[in-house]
Amino acid sequence: MKFATKAIHAGQHPDPTTGAVMTPIYQTSTYWQQSPGEHKGYEYSRGTNPTRKALEDCLAALENARFGLAFSSGMAATDTVLRLLQSGDEVVTGNDLYGGSYRIFTKVYEQLGIKFHFVDLSNPEAIRSHLNENTKLIWIETPTNPTMQIIDIEAVGAVAKEAGVLYVVDNTFASPYLQNPIDLGADIVMHSVTKYIAGHSDVVMGALVTNNEELYKRLFFYYNACGGTPGPQDSFLALRGIKTLHLRMKAHCENGRQVAHFLRNHPRIEKVYWPGFEDHPNHLVAKKQMRDFGGMISIVLKDASLQDTFKVASSFKVFSLAESLGGVESLINHPATMTHGSIPREVREKVGVVDNLIRISVGVEDIEDLLEDLKQALAL
Ligand SMILES: *Cc1c(COP(=O)(O)O)cnc(C)c1O
Repeated sequence: MKFATKAIHAGQHPDPTTGAVMTPIYQTSTYWQQSPGEHKGYEYSRGTNPTRKALEDCLAALENARFGLAFSSGMAATDTVLRLLQSGDEVVTGNDLYGGSYRIFTKVYEQLGIKFHFVDLSNPEAIRSHLNENTKLIWIETPTNPTMQIIDIEAVGAVAKEAGVLYVVDNTFASPYLQNPIDLGADIVMHSVTKYIAGHSDVVMGALVTNNEELYKRLFFYYNACGGTPGPQDSFLALRGIKTLHLRMKAHCENGRQVAHFLRNHPRIEKVYWPGFEDHPNHLVAKKQMRDFGGMISIVLKDASLQDTFKVASSFKVFSLAESLGGVESLINHPATMTHGSIPREVREKVGVVDNLIRISVGVEDIEDLLEDLKQALAL
């Protein structure tokens, strides 16, 4: 099956008792057993729930994989992967990461004796130089947040394979519509379902997807043992959101393209980060591994102080100033004080997260209204 068909149908079957075409919200914590241990495959909803199961199977199908696990947030999914590690283990990851990933790595797992190396992932040699016998995991994110670097998923995968370490790709920014890391060598794909997948800014959820049954069983153990699993109502909302993922992504990409070109020619803007530009340093990698370039764009305002940047960020009428991304509505974010506030200034500035950088999640509204809003906000 191809993408759109899977988005609409994968994991979902007419309800066996009523024939309901849409997967019901099985709002139950527990399940009747005919006699002890004799049940229909469901015992307790921390471990399994039919609405969540439909979502998990759909997510796995969208990533061309066999196994999916849904979590109560992207961070709960990340936490579950990190539980595979032990004290003394080392992780190689990027130097331009989602703030919450940086926080859980440095403030939670480093204290448990796990060492993280933050390297420039565009250079496979830099990764190799940090590998040793304690390395257990390579964790990447592409496009990176917020400076839209593109990491070559296949090239890093080759290094991971050579070293025999687990390879995880946070695929949140691209969504399964734009790229499928399992096809390019990833062992696990992590998603913040909160973003493009659910797509309507009304749920917080995460997911892990893998093709490796052994790995799936280990992840399932922590998923059930630690309990960061989502309820059926949120699972239903995410499933419903996925049915239009391909339509939304096409619109995000098209609007993103127009916004990026508009901004690039604007006199108040010093720099536009968007992988669709031919002169973007990783444009060819983006073309190779992504179906299109997405709706995430960052800009650096020319000669703007923090106050000037705040003034621009606060003067939009259609775009909302808010954290998060990937919803149908357009959002503006100031990474230095919002999403990346937990990263020390000297660390974030090294990778370009400066005070005058603004991140834009281009929504699917009419492009004329978005351009008009950008025009008026930048005119101030
Ligand atoms: C939002 C996000 C996360 C965390 O997901 P939550 O659902 O907010 O817990 C992880 N990685 C990336 C790239 C994100 O954008």
